[in-house]
Amino acid sequence: MILYKCRLCDKKNMFKFLDLGFHPPSDQFKKKKEIDFPTLYYPLKVYSCKSCGFKQLNYVVKPEILYQQNYPYESSLTITGKKHWKEFADSTVKDYNLAKNDLAVDIGSNTGVLLQSFKNNRLKIVGVDPAKNICKIANKKGIATINSFFDQKAVRKILKIHGKAKIITGTNVFAHVHDLKLFLKNIKKLIHETQGVFVIEVPYFLNLVKNLEYDTIYHEHLSYITVIPLIKFLRKFNLEVIDIQEKDIHGGSIRIFISGKGNYKKKKSVNKICKNEIKAKLNSKEILLDFQKKVTKNRLYLISLLTRLKKANKNVVALSAPAKGMTLLNYTKLDSDFLDYATEKSKIKQGLLTPGVNIPVYSDQKILKTKPDYALLLAWNFSKEIIKNNTKYLKTGGKFIIPIPRVKIIKRVK
Ligand SMILES: [Zn+2]
Repeated sequence: MILYKCRLCDKKNMFKFLDLGFHPPSDQFKKKKEIDFPTLYYPLKVYSCKSCGFKQLNYVVKPEILYQQNYPYESSLTITGKKHWKEFADSTVKDYNLAKNDLAVDIGSNTGVLLQSFKNNRLKIVGVDPAKNICKIANKKGIATINSFFDQKAVRKILKIHGKAKIITGTNVFAHVHDLKLFLKNIKKLIHETQGVFVIEVPYFLNLVKNLEYDTIYHEHLSYITVIPLIKFLRKFNLEVIDIQEKDIHGGSIRIFISGKGNYKKKKSVNKICKNEIKAKLNSKEILLDFQKKVTKNRLYLISLLTRLKKANKNVVALSAPAKGMTLLNYTKLDSDFLDYATEKSKIKQGLLTPGVNIPVYSDQKILKTKPDYALLLAWNFSKEIIKNNTKYLKTGGKFIIPIPRVKIIKRVK
């Protein structure tokens, strides 16, 4: 579905500032026997609204296509991730005086890592997630999870069983929702009127531009969040932003705390972030088109590096196969001519082929067996942890290529 008007303000006044071409959905890994099945490609272009400044894709791939039965992302896999979710729950419980048996609802709860931390704080918990396989894993672990999108039906079910929620979280979910008006209507129904806090955590567009994180653009991410347009939008629902915290995860995210107007005192962080956004001129066509230029250059540089390596008969593989890596591979068209294989910790992706460029995925151990000359680090946001986990590979002469923000080679320091 092509989007002709802004998701937030409904004005038909948008301009394109980044064109990454056509891509298959980043989670559509194929079985090997399906290699000759056709792949559907959808446009991946980002627009900015001239009226409110909101950044968004102009094409919405149907959620039924994107969030399939077997969604291959498990959020609990990295140590960095686990620590992050624990800090999230612990600090929120403390800051908003959440007490025993207060209800915490997590939207897009995945395998329940965040909810587990709320549970450890003695809160009542409910998760909502559309992926069947992921829900099974969560429920098995004792994290009560409703297998559904966050819709009216799910809200009714939660209200009936548990009543209103003191805390609702949506981490890396808000940017995935097409109908944000309906989404917020449902939040309003579920949230406690005077004490409820709705917390979203999203990759921050300001960092995306600053650090050239264009690979965080994929079809699931329909919106690229800045705070100023969001504040205006929330006003329509009598909601306001009360605090914003900047976090390192996923290349720089922001955690936005929202509540009913007047419920809590607004923290200084809100104005500070708004000022930063104005200073960064994120609505300026010139700044945004300059970003596109830098993205193109990054692509050309990466292609020429890999071309050079392949001409010199070097073996190159991709280390980790996150959704963002699929944007990078399909944008740069780095296929099996360049990359022998990809590795991935998540068992769900192992044995499959990456979307579009069809690179076979194996477990992380393969890299020690085949000792490739170079490993392209697609999950560069976890590079510290991944490099640490692979010191053996470095010691035996292996080199890492970090693609973003600048193409960089990391080798063992002698
Ligand atoms: Zn707008």
